Amino acid sequence: MSEEVLETGGDSDVYKTLLESTRAIPWRIDWQSMSFSYIGPQIEALLGWSQDSWAGINDWVERMHPDDRDYVVNFCVSQSKAGVDHEADYRALTKDGEYVWIRDVVHVVRKNGEVEALVGFMFDISERKKTEDHLIRLQKQLEELSYQDGLTGIANRRMFDTVLEREWAAAQQDQTPLSLLMMDIDAFKQYNDHYGHIKGDEALRLVASTLAQAANNPRDFVARIGGEEFIWLLPESTAAKARQVAEKCMQLVRQQQIAHERSGVSPLLTLSVGVGTITPSADAPALAFIESVDALLYQAKRNGRNRAESGAF
Ligand code: GH3
Ligand code: MG
Ligand code: MG
Repeated sequence: MSEEVLETGGDSDVYKTLLESTRAIPWRIDWQSMSFSYIGPQIEALLGWSQDSWAGINDWVERMHPDDRDYVVNFCVSQSKAGVDHEADYRALTKDGEYVWIRDVVHVVRKNGEVEALVGFMFDISERKKTEDHLIRLQKQLEELSYQDGLTGIANRRMFDTVLEREWAAAQQDQTPLSLLMMDIDAFKQYNDHYGHIKGDEALRLVASTLAQAANNPRDFVARIGGEEFIWLLPESTAAKARQVAEKCMQLVRQQQIAHERSGVSPLLTLSVGVGTITPSADAPALAFIESVDALLYQAKRNGRNRAESGAF
């Protein structure tokens, strides 16, 4: 391997010592022959491949993760041909068969307008990549959290809007019945007034976890969409099936036997439910359906609470 790149003047020992003692790994590729004219000995400590084993550009290409190869090689070749300095991140294969994230920073050396050589440094950026991965995971968690109701841990209104949009379109497409249960705890203001907000919060958590047991198809979706208001969205569910789920919700909450002395409806905490079913036509808006089901819930309240009112649209 020629080391002409380092042998420029009397200071070459100093340069060589400096270059070979940094953590960045210097290298030089001769453009004409596409071969390494130099690579720092540090490469062996990082990747396990000896300094001598880096002969041609193929050694670099082949020791790159297959998923990174096409993009990185095409990018570096086109930038080099255009004479543009550049950098690229990729996973380099180690002799042990592992991968290490590398950032290659490349300077294009030109002579009389022609590309003569590429010189650059390889940096080990695996720690930085780990931090990036960690940040991406945190970001994902945050997104999940923003779809989750903070008090009860079930889905929130935002998630409901997203799921409804998808299921509405699916029901339109497949012409299958979609059912919606809107549930509201009866006399919950009195519950708070009498037992206090802390107890009120506890009751909301218990109701949420109880309601979550009421349906069992994988696409059925439960959410807390307001203070003491919950929904079940039941794709591919007939009115009869939806009615069953509504009865089950009321029964499960009753079984929790949450005392409510000031309810005026029952000595235990109860729910009122609006139950709607629709096979939406292509141009039917979801909002009109929601409003119809809300009206059924209001009707259940007017008819004495602790009951479900159903309708098909
Ligand atoms: P109705 O039977 O007609 O539904 O009467 P209601 O008292 O349940 O309805 P209203 O809308 O008048 O009151 C809802 C109450 O729910 C008001 C508020 O104090 C309570 N609430 C809403 N969100 C929360 C919450 O996060 N925690 C607690 N503890 N209470 C809440
Ligand atoms: Mg309410
Ligand atoms: Mg209420």
